[in-house]
Amino acid sequence: MTTQIDEMRLDGNAIGGLLHEIFAVEMTNAVGTCAHCGAVNEVGRVHVYVHAPGTVVRCPDCEQVLMKIVRAKGRYWIEMTGTRLLEFAVP
Ligand SMILES: [Zn+2]
Repeated sequence: MTTQIDEMRLDGNAIGGLLHEIFAVEMTNAVGTCAHCGAVNEVGRVHVYVHAPGTVVRCPDCEQVLMKIVRAKGRYWIEMTGTRLLEFAVP
Protein backbone atom coordinates (compact mmCIF):
# COMPACT_ATOMS: atom_id res chain seq x y z
CA MET A 1 0.00 0.00 0.00
CA THR A 2 2.72 2.47 1.00
CA THR A 3 4.70 1.53 -2.11
CA GLN A 4 1.73 2.22 -4.38
CA ILE A 5 1.24 5.63 -2.78
CA ASP A 6 4.94 6.47 -3.13
CA GLU A 7 4.82 5.55 -6.82
CA MET A 8 1.99 8.05 -7.33
CA ARG A 9 3.89 10.85 -5.59
CA LEU A 10 5.19 13.83 -7.60
CA ASP A 11 7.16 16.87 -6.48
CA GLY A 12 5.89 20.42 -6.22
CA ASN A 13 6.88 21.25 -9.78
CA ALA A 14 3.89 19.13 -10.83
CA ILE A 15 1.54 21.83 -9.52
CA GLY A 16 3.56 24.81 -10.79
CA GLY A 17 1.12 25.37 -13.63
CA LEU A 18 -1.97 24.96 -11.47
CA LEU A 19 -0.67 27.36 -8.78
CA HIS A 20 0.31 29.86 -11.48
CA GLU A 21 -3.28 29.77 -12.76
CA ILE A 22 -4.63 30.49 -9.28
CA PHE A 23 -2.13 33.02 -7.92
CA ALA A 24 -1.04 34.49 -11.31
CA VAL A 25 2.64 34.49 -10.25
CA GLU A 26 5.45 31.92 -10.34
CA MET A 27 4.86 29.77 -7.26
CA THR A 28 7.43 26.97 -7.36
CA ASN A 29 9.83 29.21 -5.36
CA ALA A 30 7.10 30.19 -2.90
CA VAL A 31 7.72 29.07 0.68
CA GLY A 32 5.06 27.45 2.84
CA THR A 33 4.98 26.72 6.55
CA CYS A 34 3.32 23.47 7.63
CA ALA A 35 0.57 24.05 10.21
CA HIS A 36 1.19 20.59 11.69
CA CYS A 37 4.98 20.39 12.21
CA GLY A 38 6.17 23.92 11.43
CA ALA A 39 8.53 22.81 8.65
CA VAL A 40 9.25 25.47 6.03
CA ASN A 41 9.59 24.19 2.47
CA GLU A 42 9.62 25.59 -1.04
CA VAL A 43 6.57 24.57 -3.05
CA GLY A 44 8.96 22.74 -5.39
CA ARG A 45 9.85 20.33 -2.55
CA VAL A 46 6.36 19.37 -1.35
CA HIS A 47 4.80 15.99 -2.12
CA VAL A 48 1.99 16.07 -4.66
CA TYR A 49 -0.67 13.46 -5.36
CA VAL A 50 -2.69 14.24 -8.47
CA HIS A 51 -4.70 11.00 -8.55
CA ALA A 52 -6.67 11.79 -5.40
CA PRO A 53 -10.04 13.46 -5.91
CA GLY A 54 -8.44 16.75 -6.94
CA THR A 55 -4.80 17.49 -6.10
CA VAL A 56 -3.45 16.79 -2.62
CA VAL A 57 -0.25 18.51 -1.44
CA ARG A 58 1.56 17.01 1.55
CA CYS A 59 4.41 18.20 3.78
CA PRO A 60 7.69 16.44 2.86
CA ASP A 61 8.65 16.39 6.57
CA CYS A 62 5.52 15.05 8.31
CA GLU A 63 3.30 13.96 5.34
CA GLN A 64 0.28 15.87 6.70
CA VAL A 65 -1.96 17.59 4.13
CA LEU A 66 -0.88 21.17 3.35
CA MET A 67 -3.38 21.92 0.62
CA LYS A 68 -6.19 20.35 -1.40
CA ILE A 69 -7.11 21.84 -4.75
CA VAL A 70 -10.09 20.85 -6.86
CA ARG A 71 -10.71 22.40 -10.27
CA ALA A 72 -14.07 21.50 -11.79
CA LYS A 73 -17.08 23.03 -13.47
CA GLY A 74 -15.23 26.30 -14.11
CA ARG A 75 -14.35 26.83 -10.41
CA TYR A 76 -11.51 26.19 -7.96
CA TRP A 77 -11.87 24.88 -4.42
CA ILE A 78 -8.72 25.40 -2.34
CA GLU A 79 -8.48 24.04 1.21
CA MET A 80 -5.36 25.31 3.01
CA THR A 81 -5.89 24.69 6.71
CA GLY A 82 -2.65 22.66 6.75
CA THR A 83 -0.62 25.67 5.58
CA ARG A 84 0.10 28.15 8.35
CA LEU A 85 1.83 30.67 6.07
CA LEU A 86 2.48 31.00 2.34
CA GLU A 87 5.14 33.50 1.25
CA PHE A 88 6.02 34.48 -2.31
CA ALA A 89 7.68 37.35 -4.16
CA VAL A 90 5.70 40.20 -5.62
CA PRO A 91 6.07 39.87 -9.42
ZN1 LIG B 1 4.75 19.10 8.28
